Amino acid sequence: MTASHTSCNCFVVASGPVGQILACPDCGTIHIALPQVSLRLSPDRFRDLSITVAKAQHLLDEARAQLAEKQAGTRPLH
Ligand SMILES: [Zn+2]
Repeated sequence: MTASHTSCNCFVVASGPVGQILACPDCGTIHIALPQVSLRLSPDRFRDLSITVAKAQHLLDEARAQLAEKQAGTRPLH
């Protein structure tokens, strides 16, 4: 929210099982709406958050794959 308006008039950019990403065309604020929490970020901060979340997801996926490989390697053959 900026001095230019008192409340954002957002549109839904994306929606999924955990919540929605909305954008205000007037001030450019990105709103992350989850069931219990809502975040309002500038487009640049939202991009930074998206990159950080993507990095974390990539590392978690790698760790999950390594764990699966390790568990597969310790299983008896029969
Ligand atoms: Zn706004």
